[in-house]
Amino acid sequence: MKATTRTMAASKHVALVAHDNCKPELLRWVKENKEKLQRHFLYATGTTGNMLNKETGLPIKSLISGPMGGDQQLGALISEGKIDVLIFFWDPLNAVPHDPDVKALLRIAGVWNIPVATNRATAKFLFSSEFIDKQVDIEIPDYESYLAERL
Ligand code: PGA
Repeated sequence: MKATTRTMAASKHVALVAHDNCKPELLRWVKENKEKLQRHFLYATGTTGNMLNKETGLPIKSLISGPMGGDQQLGALISEGKIDVLIFFWDPLNAVPHDPDVKALLRIAGVWNIPVATNRATAKFLFSSEFIDKQVDIEIPDYESYLAERL
């Protein structure tokens, strides 16, 4: 597929999601990175976002709770180029009822080539990167040509 580029601004649109057993881990990471996170626009699935806002006071746009459709809302925003970074602490040790939505969210993040951290170590590396606070170009599928090839 042909590729094009999308420019991410210095202030990123960062989505935060954690499955129930991983919420304490994400909260700890958010507290540790609060200063950095304040420079970005934050989004989250419903329970994660409300919990993080209550515990840290950070402004967060909370979508619907994950099992109720929040993962799909995030996927839609990613497809529209409205999310730059996904921090998604999914639970590798327990099944969740919305497993298809989890897979769909990770798949669409792959399609649109956004940085994804699925654990604390990766989140640490990602937020230590110079790119997190700089304007940066990423390669994305060229949807116009994708469509033109099919018409
Ligand atoms: P929640 O959803 O933040 O509403 O718990 C997270 C998820 O399961 O995707």
